[in-house]
Amino acid sequence: MANTRTLEKGAKIVLASHNAGKLREFSMLLAQTGITVVSAASLNLPEPEETADSFEGNAAIKALAAAQASGLPALADDSGFCVAALDGQPGIYSARWGGPQKDMHIAMNRVHTETGNNPDRSASFVAVLCLAWPDGETRSVRGECHGHTIWPPRGEHGHGYDPMFVPEGDTRSFAEMPESEKNTLSHRGKALSLFLKECVAG
Ligand code: IMP
Repeated sequence: MANTRTLEKGAKIVLASHNAGKLREFSMLLAQTGITVVSAASLNLPEPEETADSFEGNAAIKALAAAQASGLPALADDSGFCVAALDGQPGIYSARWGGPQKDMHIAMNRVHTETGNNPDRSASFVAVLCLAWPDGETRSVRGECHGHTIWPPRGEHGHGYDPMFVPEGDTRSFAEMPESEKNTLSHRGKALSLFLKECVAG
């Protein structure tokens, strides 16, 4: 069924994340549209297990759970780092490769070790945003940023796998760029502009 439902100005939505940084980022982005964002944590919504085998599937699990529990439209994101030499891993397991402490030095070392001498250094970041309605309708958009891995990691900005990733057309790692510049190139930036175009009334 074609889906043309969009969020109107003044709508209130739930961000299906307990991460304060994401709440800040999405609230700022959506402020220009007149949409108000409340967090899943402030409504005491439970965090569902991410049991799907794709970014789209996990984003939908989170968005649907929040929409159905709150009775409001809900937005969720799921993202990760996909390395060609590792058949797309760590992918949806990107956070989990950091172990229980989510230590990204451990995660980056694992990518480096498992890549070994494979000459294929291509990699990409992926971000999927899913908007779910309380009646179960969903809409997803996907942003990708292609590039290659480097070793050793470089740069102090950013987070996660940023220090070991150089986007196409640049020589700096994501962690060597100011955040504002990374956002213009990144998977998340691309997904967010698609979301504004496709899911928010103009
Ligand atoms: P989640 O989307 O919050 O589940 O996080 C996915 C994981 O992917 C993060 O913990 C990071 O390890 C990785 N990741 C996602 N986006 C980025 C990024 O922009 N830079 C670096 N790592 C990222």
